Amino acid sequence: MTREPFQRKDKKLFLDLLARRGIRDKRVLKAMAAVPREAFVGQALVDSAYQDSPLPIEEGQTISQPYIVALMTEAMRLGPDNTVLEIGTGSGYGAAVLASIVQQVYTIERHQVLADHASKRLAKLGYDNIAVRCGDGTLGWPEHAPFDAIVVTAGGPGVPESLISQLTIGGRLVIPAGADQHQQQLLRITRLSENKTETEDLGGVRFVPLIGKEGWR
Ligand code: SAM
Repeated sequence: MTREPFQRKDKKLFLDLLARRGIRDKRVLKAMAAVPREAFVGQALVDSAYQDSPLPIEEGQTISQPYIVALMTEAMRLGPDNTVLEIGTGSGYGAAVLASIVQQVYTIERHQVLADHASKRLAKLGYDNIAVRCGDGTLGWPEHAPFDAIVVTAGGPGVPESLISQLTIGGRLVIPAGADQHQQQLLRITRLSENKTETEDLGGVRFVPLIGKEGWR
C-alpha cells in the first residue's frame, strides 16, 4: 500500500475524533481538514502525523496535539476578517490553521531556527497571510496591534500585561497559565473595556514553558 491512502484514512479518523471530542465550529474543523500536518513534522514522523498527540520538533520543542490546537482555535471565537497574534510558532502548524480561518496572522517564536524553518515551510505551502518573527512573544508585537485574538502556545506563570494591552476591546486572549512549569489551566481572557477583563477557565492542559520577560525567566 502506498503512503498516501494510509494517511488519508488516518486523517478521516482524526477529523471524526475532533468532532467526537466536542469541536463544533465548522470553520475550525474545515481548517483542521485543510492543513497537511504531515508537512510540519520531520520525515521520520510522517506516519504519526494524524495521531492525536504532540510530536517532537527541533530545539526540544513540540508540535501541539491536534485536539488542543482545535480547542484553542475554537476558544478564540474567530471571524474571517480578524487579525490574530500567535506566540510560539514552533513548526508553524498552528499558524497555518489560524491562517485558514482569519485574514492575517502574526506569529512569534523565540528560537531562531524554528522561526526560520516555519517561515520557509509556510511560504512553500503557499500561506501568504502569515508573518513570522523571532523574539520574545510575551511582549507581543506592538507594531501590528491591536489584535482581535491572541493565542499563546506555551505555558506561563501568569498572564502577560503586554498581551492584554494589545487586544482590541472585545478581543480574546487564550493562554495556558499556572504556577507549575509543566501543567497549566487554559484561560480565555476577554477584554471588555480599556481596563476591564473577564477570565474563563477552560480546563487543565500541559504545555512547554513560556520563556520571556513576562513569562518564566
Ligand atoms: N504552535 C506550535 C506548532 O503548531 O508547532 C507549537 C508550539 S510549542 C508547543 C511552543 C513554542 O513556544 C515553542 O516552539 C517555544 O520555543 C515557543 N516559546 C516559548 N516561549 C516563547 C516566547 N516567549 N516567545 C515566543 N515563543 C516562545
